[in-house]
Amino acid sequence: MTITLLSGNIFIFALLMTASTAFSSATAPFKLTYNLKPKKISPSIYWLEGINDYPSEANGGNMVNTGFIIGDKSVMVIDTGWSKIYAEEKLAAIAKITKKPISHIVITHGHPDHAMAAHHYIKKTGAKYVGNKNVVAFFEEKREFSWRLAKRFLPSWLKGEKIDLTNPDILVPERMSVDLGNKVVELISIGGGHTDADLLVWVPSEKTLFTGDIIFNKVIPATRDAHIPTWLKKIDIVSSMGAMKIIPGHGPAGGPKTINFIRRYLSTLWTVMKKFVDGDVDMVIALETAGMDEYKDIPRFKGSHGKNMIKAFQQAEWELFGP
Ligand SMILES: [Zn+2]
Ligand SMILES: [Zn+2]
Repeated sequence: MTITLLSGNIFIFALLMTASTAFSSATAPFKLTYNLKPKKISPSIYWLEGINDYPSEANGGNMVNTGFIIGDKSVMVIDTGWSKIYAEEKLAAIAKITKKPISHIVITHGHPDHAMAAHHYIKKTGAKYVGNKNVVAFFEEKREFSWRLAKRFLPSWLKGEKIDLTNPDILVPERMSVDLGNKVVELISIGGGHTDADLLVWVPSEKTLFTGDIIFNKVIPATRDAHIPTWLKKIDIVSSMGAMKIIPGHGPAGGPKTINFIRRYLSTLWTVMKKFVDGDVDMVIALETAGMDEYKDIPRFKGSHGKNMIKAFQQAEWELFGP
C-alpha cells in the first residue's frame, strides 16, 4: 500500500486495515471514519477537501470536494460524497457550526462521488433536492454503472447500503435563485462540458463559486462523460464570472487562477490530439507520441491521461467528419 499519498487519518485507517488482516480474530472491529473537517472560506461558506486520488478502500471515496452555505434562515449542502457514513459525518460537522436547518441538498452533477449519498441527507433533513434538469437522463443511463463502480471500489464503506440515486425534486433548467436568508445563491445549469448535467453554485455577494467538476485543480480530470471542446467553452464562462474564490470539484480551492490548470491541460490535450486527427495519423502512433510529459507527476495521470487522449482523439474525429 502506498503510504506517502495518504493523509493522517487515512494513514491510521491503512494501519488498521493491515492490523485487522493480520489479527482479524483477535481485534475488535474498527470504525470507518472520514474525520471530516470543514474549512472556512467566510462565516457563511465552508468546503470539505478530498484528497487527490481515485476512490479506494483506504480513502473511503473522500477524494471529492464538497461544501455548504449558511444563510440567516437555513443551510444549503453542496455535493454529498458516496456513502451514508460521509453523509452522517458531514451533517454532524455542519451541526457543530450552525443549528440552522438544512433546506437544500444541491448536486453539481450526477457522478457518484458528488451525488451518491443524496438520499441519506434527504432522509435525515427533509431538505429539497436540487440538480441540473439533465441529471435525470444522466441517472437513467448511469445509475446501475455508478452503483457497480461504487461497490467495487468502496465495499466496506457501502456495506448494507442499497442503490438509490434518486432524481432531484427540483430541476434547474437554466438558472435559479435561492435565498437562505440574507444569502442569495445562484444555481446555474451550465449544460454540457464535464457531463451533460453540470451545475454551478454561485454566491454573488461573496464572489465565491463552487464549480463541481468543470474545474479540476492540480489533478488530472476524468473525461468519461465529457465533451472536451464544449468543456473548454464552459471554462471560459466560469472565467468570465468574476469569481474571487473558487472551490473546484477536485484539488485545492483558491483564487481566480484556480481555473488555469484544467484550462491548460484540456486545451493542450485537445490541440495535440486534433493535430494528429487532422494529419490522418494512426491512433496508436498518436498515443505513443503525444507527449504531455509535464503532467506525468500530477495525481491521477496514471489511469486517466491515456483515456483522456483516446476521448480527445475520438471527439476530434467526430468534429472532422461532423454534421
Ligand atoms: Zn465528475
Ligand atoms: Zn468528481
